[in-house]
Amino acid sequence: MSVETREQSAAPKVGFVSLGCPKALVDSEQILTQLRAEGYGVSPSYEGADLVVVNTCGFIDSAVQESLDAIGEALAENGKVIVTGCLGAKGDVVQKTHPSVLAVTGPHAMQEVMSAVHRHLPRPHDPFADLVPPQGVKLTPRHYAYLKISEGCNHRCTFCIIPSMRGDLVSRDIGQVLREAENLVKAGVREILVISQDTSAYGVDVKYRTGFWNGRPVKTRMQDLAVALGEMGVWTRLHYVYPYPSVDAVIPLMAEGRILPYIDVPFQHASPRILKLMQRPASGERNLERIEAWRSACPELTIRSTFIAGFPGETEAEFNELLAFVEAAQVDRAGCFAYSPVQGAAANDLPDPLPQAEREARRAEFMKVQERVSKKRLARRVGKTVKVLIDTVNQDGAVGRSSADAPEIDGSVFIEWPERRADQAKLKVGEFVNVRVTGSDTHDLWGRLAAH
Ligand code: SF4
Repeated sequence: MSVETREQSAAPKVGFVSLGCPKALVDSEQILTQLRAEGYGVSPSYEGADLVVVNTCGFIDSAVQESLDAIGEALAENGKVIVTGCLGAKGDVVQKTHPSVLAVTGPHAMQEVMSAVHRHLPRPHDPFADLVPPQGVKLTPRHYAYLKISEGCNHRCTFCIIPSMRGDLVSRDIGQVLREAENLVKAGVREILVISQDTSAYGVDVKYRTGFWNGRPVKTRMQDLAVALGEMGVWTRLHYVYPYPSVDAVIPLMAEGRILPYIDVPFQHASPRILKLMQRPASGERNLERIEAWRSACPELTIRSTFIAGFPGETEAEFNELLAFVEAAQVDRAGCFAYSPVQGAAANDLPDPLPQAEREARRAEFMKVQERVSKKRLARRVGKTVKVLIDTVNQDGAVGRSSADAPEIDGSVFIEWPERRADQAKLKVGEFVNVRVTGSDTHDLWGRLAAH
């Protein structure tokens, strides 16, 4: 199966019915763009869709009727329907006629539609091919945004086909990247997530060329980028950083609070032989020693990583080496994938592939060990006060994230609804609050607003 076919068949699909005027059409385009950017497929038929979005018109009676009929048809044919557009803003007309719709929003409500889609059809994640969204910047929702700094990759990891699809590393101009970040901050973004295929390689292709930002020279280099982003007064989180020696230079920026003390390093394995078979970047580095040095320079550091269990030829001893690494390195957050061959990847030709059941069993064992580590690491935060960025507010309180939690992939901080009215006003999406941690489990924390 080709990658496209694999992605298409695996991706959840959304059907779309677009009615109304050109403004409604633009809304539809924005929602469809965002759906595609997040990896959803778009289905041309009701039966091929996992849910259907109907963008309605409420201008004149015949348009209202046409919209209600379209919702009725989508419900009859598919059953899972989200309604957006002008009719949604007309009192409870939609809910009265069609009480089984999943959600209703007014026009120009891309964020609300996306939240409803996420609730009823979780967003897809493909660890090999979908690390980076296809557009430069993604706002999901308004208070955080991904900032893509480069495209492509100079490495040739044997399990990955990204370089053959997207080519070698091409770094974006640093001035342009920083201007984009500034605009995001002006638009209300409170957290910038730096992404690429290999963030630590930023600028290698242009020999760390000097660019300009606000009339000031800045080198096209991860460290310089992090310093500049750190001046913008919002959270900066680094993803897909490989453990090259140059990474050591950004750890002090984390210790000084200029960027978040969080590093997403996709180690993938710990056995030198497997890393060599994977042709991983920086596989010769002594990762355990490096992590110890990072932690002593920045004790608050959260380490997030991804791993592959059951790579072709992985012996029992090599798998145990991986488990021992996760314990020893105390990797705070980790995802683990059972090795799965991607068509066109060199690793498919390696000898001694493991049976699927064994790969899955190793993945499950890995997750048990990692969850133990995660639970222990989170328990250490009980009794402490952490800064939290609020993602959602509901009748029970609010859900946010601390420096240790990247959106979508890590845990959450659940904040109890405060009794005092003045404190309740602080619980707003996109606001920072201080939270006294009162409890923890394997992935999440619980707490109350801290007294100021
Ligand atoms: S570093 Fe390896 S896994 Fe990541 S994109 Fe490049 S080739 Fe693929």
